[in-house]
Amino acid sequence: MLASSDAFRREANLIGGQWVGADSGAVIEVTNPATGEKIGTVPNAGRAETARAIDAAQKAFESFRKTSVLERSKMLRRLHDAIMDNQEALARLLSTEQGKSLAEARGEVAFSAGYVLWFAEQARRIYGEVVPSPWADRRILVTREPVGVIAAITPWNFPSSMLARKLGPALAAGCTAVVKPASQTPYSGLAWGVMAEEAGIPAGVINIVTGSAAEIGAELTSNPIVKKITFTGSTEVGKKLMAAAAGTVKKVSMELGGNAPFIVFDDADLDRAIAGAMIAKYRNSGQTCVCTNRFIVQAGIHDRFVERLAEESNRLKVGNGLEEGTQQGPLIDMKAVETVESFVADAVAKGGRVVAGGRRHALGGTFFEPTVIAGANTQMRFAREEIFGPLSPVFKVDSEEEAVALANDTEYGLACYFYTQDLGRAFRVMEGLKYGLIGVNEGLITTVEAPFGGLKESGIGKEGGHQGIDDYLDAKYVCLGGLGL
Ligand code: NAP
Repeated sequence: MLASSDAFRREANLIGGQWVGADSGAVIEVTNPATGEKIGTVPNAGRAETARAIDAAQKAFESFRKTSVLERSKMLRRLHDAIMDNQEALARLLSTEQGKSLAEARGEVAFSAGYVLWFAEQARRIYGEVVPSPWADRRILVTREPVGVIAAITPWNFPSSMLARKLGPALAAGCTAVVKPASQTPYSGLAWGVMAEEAGIPAGVINIVTGSAAEIGAELTSNPIVKKITFTGSTEVGKKLMAAAAGTVKKVSMELGGNAPFIVFDDADLDRAIAGAMIAKYRNSGQTCVCTNRFIVQAGIHDRFVERLAEESNRLKVGNGLEEGTQQGPLIDMKAVETVESFVADAVAKGGRVVAGGRRHALGGTFFEPTVIAGANTQMRFAREEIFGPLSPVFKVDSEEEAVALANDTEYGLACYFYTQDLGRAFRVMEGLKYGLIGVNEGLITTVEAPFGGLKESGIGKEGGHQGIDDYLDAKYVCLGGLGL
């Protein structure tokens, strides 16, 4: 057991089982968004270090692919235990570099462990098939094998759990990995290397490089040894990676941006809708891909909903995530603050009414007031763009048809939520919404047992659920003949 979060704050990259710096010795500074203070540095690695990490992963793959599913399942169980034994230290490290409240950070760490345990179990269910043969003298087998070396690129908003969704299935399948964590939150990514060592995962199975996104990305997407790119981040970067990966025809899984609608129908249970709205909007200070981007509220319940949402938003305790009781931490950086401010200014200029918050928080730094804007319309920027901050725009609609049409009027299709007590409406709306994840009277729905993934420009592929391992496996068809059958 590694007690303190300092034990996980590795200022080096993990390549082939060695903790190393960048070839040039260059580093990137990491800061605490709640205080602006420097926490430490990590290597500013580039193409050469990434190429070596890929070679190390390939070398490890030759033996790792031959391990039994039971061995890999046990390794993942040990990894799960290492995470949970160190939950508090990992949560503190996460909160320090990312800003989220300790309660949310503890939850994220436990969620990461949950994915690892789920895939420890799924490792033992990588079933092949015996297919009925159309030929009397031949037999047809379908086997499933690890794709090989995979590359994982992750964002700063969930620096631990986004890796869990990738490393869990990769290792269960028998793949080895090169990981690039986000530069603003690298320590929670590097901590996976420390835990992998604790869990006895062989050297080279998990390699972690930090540094220049452009250089590391260029090597990961062009190196023919890498067989799959799994990315969580913005749609803009995801599209670039897909295009770059096409050169060597790699598999791709993309978990990209969202513009989640949250519909409240006249017949909704208002208390439940408000409770769901608060979690679906303000979790991680509004910086999640499944955070509500647009509240769409039917006229009969609209005014009561806006009033209650404003009250609850004003009640949120904003502060340093490391202080117990904090419900909303800072935004990740000043650019994020400016972006939220620009959404508010744009909406106000186009007739929006600020009914809660609306400004930088009195705490200063990158803290922002939980904000509600009524009178939202489709000319406002947030109708199309991801907010990624604690801003709740409320659109008023008259009918069910109007609500569904507005909800679908986006190129994104990740998460959506709606509240109704009418079963017929629940089915009609569920079937009409073009989204990969739907919460009906629920504002927080992600779980390891269910497939997570977007439609349209929100992504390709699923993470979690029994589907979550599919993209790490190649199906191989074998036709057996000439055996005197
Ligand atoms: P981002 O700017 O796309 O960055 C994500 C990761 O990609 C980071 O590690 C970043 O590295 C790296 N990156 C940036 N440019 C790259 C390039 N040219 N080549 C290779 N890697 C590159 O996204 P973000 O701002 O960190 O995260 C927020 C976005 O992620 C939002 O759009 C959110 O909706 C999405 N997200 C989606 C999901 C999902 O499951 N669908 C979950 C969480 C977040 P650096 O940090 O070094 O720049």
